[in-house]
Amino acid sequence: MPSPQEKHSATCTLSGGVRPLSEGFFAQSVARCQAPQRLRQIVRQVRLRRLPGSANGGLVVSSPTMKTPTSRPVVLCLSGHDPSGGAGLQADIEALLAQGCHAAPTVTALTVQDTVNVHDFRVLDRDWVLAQANAVINDLPVEAVKLGMLGSVEMVETVLEIMQRLPGIPLVCDPVLRAGGGGALGKDEVGYAMRERLFAVSTIATPNLPEARILAELPDGTADECAEKLLPYIQYLLITGGHGDEQQVHNRLYGRDGSRHTFTCQRLPGSYHGSGCTLASTLAGRLAIGQELVSAVEFALDYTWRTLRDAEQPGHGQFIPRRLPLDAY
Ligand code: PLP
Repeated sequence: MPSPQEKHSATCTLSGGVRPLSEGFFAQSVARCQAPQRLRQIVRQVRLRRLPGSANGGLVVSSPTMKTPTSRPVVLCLSGHDPSGGAGLQADIEALLAQGCHAAPTVTALTVQDTVNVHDFRVLDRDWVLAQANAVINDLPVEAVKLGMLGSVEMVETVLEIMQRLPGIPLVCDPVLRAGGGGALGKDEVGYAMRERLFAVSTIATPNLPEARILAELPDGTADECAEKLLPYIQYLLITGGHGDEQQVHNRLYGRDGSRHTFTCQRLPGSYHGSGCTLASTLAGRLAIGQELVSAVEFALDYTWRTLRDAEQPGHGQFIPRRLPLDAY
């Protein structure tokens, strides 16, 4: 665990500029984006015909001129369950709660694992996953979708079918193929199927460098080389650098439009279980509340870094990010 001194001396750089990650940054960021986000969310709800007071809208008209929002933006999570609680759907739920969103967790797979490694996993039947997702979509106004562990090529096709019911909804794809401890959570073919089929309907994918190398089929590729190979498939790609050993972590955002951003932060000493899930679901939450993509990425990276800085080691293996409570930030 980092010492309190280490915690408070940390810095994070964005595109070359260095600024302190002061305790107030999270609160300031929230304040900075909250009002326009809410506005955009209401505009989006109206556009989707979830008008105030409608059965689907979750908004109640308390007076002819004033609307009181009664529901938080809903994020549909299609991920696996990790019984250790560090990764998978529990990570999604906690990270989304911390963003002020409501997680609708659809189980794609069950895993047997602890904080040390994966012992087994089972992918759910396609019909069960479709039924869960359809129940959510029929009832709740989904504002964004987060994909985690899918586990099989068939599940990739199932997700594609689900996404046909959610055209234009932001989709964050975390191409999960390995657990933090290294155990497999799907064959490389699942990654190739994501690239070939799901990337086209995704807003952004968030692989770490080892995952990007698998997806790009470049075993020794740099982040830039992997991005060049993958960008024809997807609009935005965030390749995280947490799995390297440099003193600083370089997280690189690539846009198909040629845009490039590098977010650099101090490497923390531990090994973490659920960091990728935390990042991707936070990003989905930020998009759900209407934040613009680049600032949503920056925000999600900052938040994730803080959860790792404050991580706990409840078991014998990796640290678990501390995603809640919010007042710890
Ligand atoms: N999803 C599930 C269900 C998992 O069990 C894991 C890792 O164990 C992951 C995703 C990926 O975890 P991480 O965020 O550490 O990459």
